[in-house]
Formats: sequence, C-alpha cells, structure tokens
Amino acid sequence: MMSRVIIVRRLESFIAKGAGELGVFDGFRISFSCRPKIFSNEIYRDPTKTVSLDEVKQSYGGIIKDADLANFRSAYVNPEAGWADAGTAVKRMLEESIAVGIEYKVGDAVGIVLRGQSGVKGVKLATGEVVEADKIVLTTGAWTSFLMHSIEEELGLRHEERIERQLTAAAVCVAHYQLTEEEVELYSKMPVIVYGEKGIPFGHRVFMFSDAESFAGEVLPPPQSGILKFTFSGSVTNTITVTSEQRISVPPFQDQSIVPQALKNEILDIIKSLMPYFQNNGREVDRWRLCWDSITPTQNQLICRHPNPSMHNLCLAVGGSFHSYKFLPTIGKYVANVIHGISNGDEKDHAWEWKATGSQDRLKCAHANVIPKRDLKDLIHMESR
Ligand SMILES: Cc1cc2nc3c(=O)[nH]c(=O)nc-3n(C[C@H](O)[C@H](O)[C@H](O)COP(=O)(O)OP(=O)(O)OC[C@H]3O[C@@H](n4cnc5c(N)ncnc54)[C@H](O)[C@@H]3O)c2cc1C
Repeated sequence: MMSRVIIVRRLESFIAKGAGELGVFDGFRISFSCRPKIFSNEIYRDPTKTVSLDEVKQSYGGIIKDADLANFRSAYVNPEAGWADAGTAVKRMLEESIAVGIEYKVGDAVGIVLRGQSGVKGVKLATGEVVEADKIVLTTGAWTSFLMHSIEEELGLRHEERIERQLTAAAVCVAHYQLTEEEVELYSKMPVIVYGEKGIPFGHRVFMFSDAESFAGEVLPPPQSGILKFTFSGSVTNTITVTSEQRISVPPFQDQSIVPQALKNEILDIIKSLMPYFQNNGREVDRWRLCWDSITPTQNQLICRHPNPSMHNLCLAVGGSFHSYKFLPTIGKYVANVIHGISNGDEKDHAWEWKATGSQDRLKCAHANVIPKRDLKDLIHMESR
C-alpha cells in the first residue's frame, strides 16, 4: 500500500519563488576563473572554448557591445550549459505529485511538535493545525534555522548541536527589468552571462569587501514573463538573536523587495559596466528582491536524518548553497533513500551528513563567491550614518 505523503508549502512560495528565483545556466557562460577549477579533474571533458573579447562583443546581436571589458583578458563560452525556468519546473513537479496521489496543503509551518522523547509528531501550522506524520522532511531552505529554533530550545540543545552550525540563511540581491516585446526578441537570444569573478571592474560604490575581485554579476535570458534578472553574488546574512545565547540568520519578515541602497548600488554598477543600455534615458529597475537560500560551509547540501534521538524521524533536505536548483531532476531519489534509511554510498553520505564539527572546509566549495561576508544590518547601519 502506498504511504500517505503530504507536502506543506506556503502559498507565496509556490507561485513566486519556486525552487529559487533563478534557473540554472543558459546557452553560454562567459567568465574567467572557474573553468580551471571545474575541469581540473580528468574525468570531465572540457566543452568550453576561449573566445576573444572582440568576439564576445560582436556576438548575441550585440547586446554586450558596450560592455566595459577593460580589466578582462579573455572570455569563455560553454555551449553545453543550459537553463530552466525554475518556477514553472517546480509547479509542474507539484502537479505531477498531486496527480499520483500526494496531498498538497497550503500552510505556514510555525514549529515542529515532539512526540514525547520518541521522535517528532508533526508540524504545527500558523492556523494551529498539527499535520502529523511518521516521518517528516524539512525542505524549508533559508527558513530552516528559524523553524527549528523553538524545538532546539525545548530540547535544550547546545549551540554545536543546532542546525545553525550546519547552515545559515543568506541572500543575494536581484534586479528585475520588465522588457518590451522588442527587447524580449533581442534578449531571448542571449546566453547566461557571468561577469567577473576575477578582474571585475567594480565601481567606487562597492565597499566593505576584503576580496572584491571574487564577486560576480550574472544575468539570465528572459523567460516567458519577459523579465530580465541581474544578480550580484555578494551575499548577506540577516542575523537575529533568538535567545540570549543563540544567534541565527533568517530571511527578514518584511517584504523581500526592501533592499538596502548599498546592495542596489552594487548591481547598478555591474549593469552599468555590462549592459549600460539599461541605465540609458533614466530607466529604473522595475523590481528589487532579496533572494534567500541556506548555505553550508562546504556548500554540499544537508540531506540526512537529524542526529538527535528525540528527532530521529525528522529528515533534512536543505543547504542548497545557491547552486542546487540544477539537482531538481535527480535529487529526489537520494532524499527518498535517506527517508528509508538506505545509504547513498560513502561519498554522498559523507558529503550530505550532519557535520559533527560544522566543517569549515571552504576550499572545495562549488560556488565560493556567494559565501556571505556581510550582514544586512551592517549595510543599513552604514546608510543611516
Ligand atoms: C538568486 C539565486 C540564483 C540561483 N541560481 C542558481 C543557479 O543558477 N543554478 C542552481 O542550480 N541553483 C541556483 N540557485 C540555488 C537554488 O535556487 C537553491 O539552492 C534551491 O532552490 C534550494 O532549494 P530548497 O528546496 O533547499 O529551498 P527553496 O527553493 O528556498 O525552497 C524552500 C521552500 O520552503 C518554503 N518554506 C520555508 N519555510 C516554510 C514554512 N515555515 N512553512 C511553509 N513553507 C516554508 C519556502 O517558502 C520555499 O518555497 C540560485 C538561488 C538564488 C536565490
């Protein structure tokens, strides 16, 4: 008999966010520094090719012909990269899940309910309803630490035993432009462009960076909605104090379109250098947004059972670390194995396990430039001075 499976999701998340704000990579990637890292391993064939900066400027209908590439030496393209419309893909996946009998509930989970000492009983919703289950999987991304903190408090967990040691909530800032029909026609032929990582010509408004050269800007081709999104990889935390001793990073409860001017300026600098067209004639960004993910020290996901015996039936599938949307088609079977207590093999089990010490092994990170180095409060504080 098939077990009963319930998915609880916030309504807004289904409609607006999906699995992260951005899809993966589109058509071609132009960048500098990550190629040697990715293809240094002989197992992978290198599909990328180096192109001259003149070639870059002349390609893609000339959309980056005015880019400031003065600090760059060359670029590369990866013709095998692809991108996906994240929101639509998650929507389809949920529709398929519902079609095969999974119950979908819209609700805001506000806490985990214990079943005495013998595990977790269910998830409490804002309405007061408790959704009970034999096994619970938290896939709550950047909101995980906040959701967990009251049960961690109830169980008297020490700082080292809490989820915040495994991952932290971080956000990147995204600028949205609503394109006209003619612009959609032109920009739909563009690749995903990664601008920077090394040698990026940052403007004078970027501040507080100890290693500014490792940040990057990224712009994706417009999906059906005709929205062009620019992202800046310098991420921020939002640290709050939940008890006298515990500090955690959580997405602010306010509207995520409220973005400190300092972060806006960083993207505006990139847009000005990469596609100055979007700042011509006083054109304004149509929408700003902070987009949150949970980030682990190694940027490996956290896909495991909770190690505390009182939460033995609570599984976690979190820690996307700004690079996990691409696993949407494959990750499910591994999560299912964890739920059923089946090993995913030593290497994966080790990568995704609960880290006893909270590993700081950052050298092997997939996407090191999004590791947060600043807190929202610092930026707001700087603005108010
Ligand atoms: C700007 C940006 C660009 C990115 N670019 C890429 C990329 O190019 N390639 C790539 O592979 N990945 C990318 N990612 C990363 C990818 O989107 C994330 O790693 C992935 O979405 C993480 O999945 P998740 O399920 O852990 O979390 P999420 O996708 O954040 O899902 C968590 C869900 O849980 C819901 N939720 C949280 N708390 C509660 C609660 N209390 N009650 C009910 N529901 C709740 C949230 O609303 C949300 O829908 C990017 C992320 C961002 C933000």
